Amino acid sequence: MNSLFITGATVFTAAGPIHTRADVVVEDGRIAAVGPDLAAPEGARVIEADGLFMTPGLIDVHTHLALPNVPERGEPHPDTPFHAVHAASLCLSSGVTTVRDVGGNNHADLALARAIRGGLVAGPRMICCGQAIVPTGGHIHYFCQEADGPDAVRAAARRQMKAGATWIKLMISGGIANVEEHPDEMHFSREEIAAAVEAAGARGHKVAVHAYPGRAIRIACEVGVATIEHAVDLDGETIASIKRAGAAIVPTHAVYEYMARNGSGHYAQLVDLASRVYAMKSGPLRDAIAAGVTVGVGTDCGRHYPHDGIGGEIALLAEAGMGLEGALTAATAGNAAILGLADELGTIAPGRRADLALFAGDPLADASAYGAPVHVIRGGTAFDPAALRNTPPLN
Ligand SMILES: [Zn+2]
Repeated sequence: MNSLFITGATVFTAAGPIHTRADVVVEDGRIAAVGPDLAAPEGARVIEADGLFMTPGLIDVHTHLALPNVPERGEPHPDTPFHAVHAASLCLSSGVTTVRDVGGNNHADLALARAIRGGLVAGPRMICCGQAIVPTGGHIHYFCQEADGPDAVRAAARRQMKAGATWIKLMISGGIANVEEHPDEMHFSREEIAAAVEAAGARGHKVAVHAYPGRAIRIACEVGVATIEHAVDLDGETIASIKRAGAAIVPTHAVYEYMARNGSGHYAQLVDLASRVYAMKSGPLRDAIAAGVTVGVGTDCGRHYPHDGIGGEIALLAEAGMGLEGALTAATAGNAAILGLADELGTIAPGRRADLALFAGDPLADASAYGAPVHVIRGGTAFDPAALRNTPPLN
């Protein structure tokens, strides 16, 4: 039996009280026991974790690990797999052990997931949407599958699932990837969104939608989508419809703040737009959190946000009313529940997969503790975050 014994850490299980100075026993990739004064299994690899803070492996429900780092172009882009390998390594180095990837270039996300599962590449476990589905000329259409009309959208969803997608992503409104697009426009009709929900549901899968305007969010909720990505325009009526539907929002708040602060290169023109969107969504996000809307933690890492930046999103959600403990719970147990994987991931409890992150600082006291984990463990395998970060940048 392959076992690991991590001893002496403060343990935030996301499933009960915080243990001070506890031990965690890992056997064959799963947590066997957690608590004070446990015995190390014979032959176990021991990690001394005195003074470290352990959390469940972080989960990011909005990533783009497999997009090329180039300006807008037609697909497929041959550089994509190399950027994807680098992105996966950085992502894992930040303590993220599971991602839901909401749109890759030419199915490079699905290929990356297979490579990680096969042990060829270091990275988080990946739940993939394949290519996002977009109406002709819609938001980042150059990386997506274009489809118009309910029948075409249904067929597009089936094509993504045939390729291996287990979530479906739709771009139902404009966004701010280009100066030419308009974030206020709704691009898919109610019937088109419903067709994707039906096609995904028939195979036991769910739909995530990129949506800015309130009208688009409300219609998506009415037809049964599971997660609303970005969710910029959250008035009282829209918040009520999200709660009624039991949907979650994934605000990806940090990417707008980051674009506003660091805008350069090919997206310099978007800095002003990002600043305005960030200012516009801050108040409504606070209202949604206060109203008890389920909030998923997603970074939108990819072409506009770093792959190791989940701490930035957790910090902003904490400030927006979730608090540091609430935001960490959302990034672990909460995100696992959104993915339908609460029995497998997101908490430190016997039987769960041994996905763990250990930090030098206390992330419940200061979000800067997320900056550099000391150990990252995925499925019982320990990775050295410093080595993962040293992967040479490819651009
Ligand atoms: Zn995105």
